[in-house]
Amino acid sequence: MNIHEYQAKAILKSYGVAIQEGKVARTPQEAEAQAKLLTTETGTSWYVVKAQIHAGGRGKGIVNETGSNGVVLAKGIDKVFDIAKGILGGTLVTKQTGPAGKKVNQVLIAQDVYYPGESKTAEFYMSVLLNRKTGRNIIMYSTEGGMDIETVAENTPHLIFKEEIDPKVGIQAFQARKIAFNLGLNGKAMKEMTKFVTSLYKAYVGTDASMFEINPVLKTSDDKIIAVDSKVNLDDNALYRHPEFFELRDLSEEDPAEVEAGKHNLNFIKLDGNVGCMVNGAGLAMATMDIIKLSGGDPANFLDVGGAANAVTVEAGFRIILKDPNVKAILLNIFGGIVRCDRVAAGVVEAYKSIGEIKVPVIVRLQGTNAEEGKVLIDNSGLKVHSAITLQEAADLVKKVMA
Ligand code: GDP
Ligand code: MN
Repeated sequence: MNIHEYQAKAILKSYGVAIQEGKVARTPQEAEAQAKLLTTETGTSWYVVKAQIHAGGRGKGIVNETGSNGVVLAKGIDKVFDIAKGILGGTLVTKQTGPAGKKVNQVLIAQDVYYPGESKTAEFYMSVLLNRKTGRNIIMYSTEGGMDIETVAENTPHLIFKEEIDPKVGIQAFQARKIAFNLGLNGKAMKEMTKFVTSLYKAYVGTDASMFEINPVLKTSDDKIIAVDSKVNLDDNALYRHPEFFELRDLSEEDPAEVEAGKHNLNFIKLDGNVGCMVNGAGLAMATMDIIKLSGGDPANFLDVGGAANAVTVEAGFRIILKDPNVKAILLNIFGGIVRCDRVAAGVVEAYKSIGEIKVPVIVRLQGTNAEEGKVLIDNSGLKVHSAITLQEAADLVKKVMA
């Protein structure tokens, strides 16, 4: 699960990581009011207005409607309203959003921590993630913060450091000091950094995150070390241990079809093609997408209905696939192992009736337990459903109906 920057920062703060303070707003009026509050609490008179979307690259991203960037400095309270207006409600397109961009519903009004006119600030990169190969956590860090870390990795890989942490032991004081040293820090900044990295590691472990990325980590001109940005991936498999995180989920950031599929326990991923597919088993779903490609089509989605394909799941699957206007045909590919094909076929007939007329051709390929019975059921149903037994037959049918 992904969460917003302001939510990730709140988590960091609760673990003792120093952050750039800020407040969230949903309207320009609220943005101005929040800026005032922030001034009362922190004394700041300059602010950064930051679009809250589940994607990075906001600073260089452009809001389609207004031409504003996704992160904008406001040099005074009187600038906040207009800047927030240029961001809120617009569609922000960044390197990470894809060309469609993401609608901005909230902005973070944060304190400006790059005290103007001073040059002794430094931006670092830091992330904590799991090295699956060694079964250890890794702290990745670099002096080259504030920019795209992929570019740093490509052009100057020697400027990226890695520190492996044994999860049984946790981060050791000497490791935190080594990190601060490699970042060129000493004195107060060094102390601050060891505290920062130790707390960040604790946050990563304590939240069951699969990744925490802070880019940039800022060294202020008065040697404070603070998180200016924060991106976290929370491990879905561990969410049951964190009921407090459920309310952090922002469904408006997720694909509506994927959200709907999740409600029905369907494993669905939206793609750009025109042939919808519904399959039982992830491996077979991949093979089905291959055969669709080979027959000249393009899969519109990945959909694994799981081991218990029945009328209810099949109907939910159809409804989700049919929401996509690109879909020109649907291929249902079921291997009957424990699932009986005649039951699935009956489910298809039922789903078909309950949805009403499905306007696109549907090809059903059944194989395995009771496949023949299933085919007979479909052929005799009087519905405009094409049935196939072999994968090749199914592929040929897709080609035929798409022609
Ligand atoms: P991202 O572009 O989505 O990664 O968003 P960031 O939160 O990293 O912000 C982008 C850039 O805005 C940062 O790299 C900074 O250079 C700049 N920025 C962020 N906070 C401040 C601030 O308080 N003052 C100033 N002057 N610049 C800031
Ligand atoms: Mn960033």
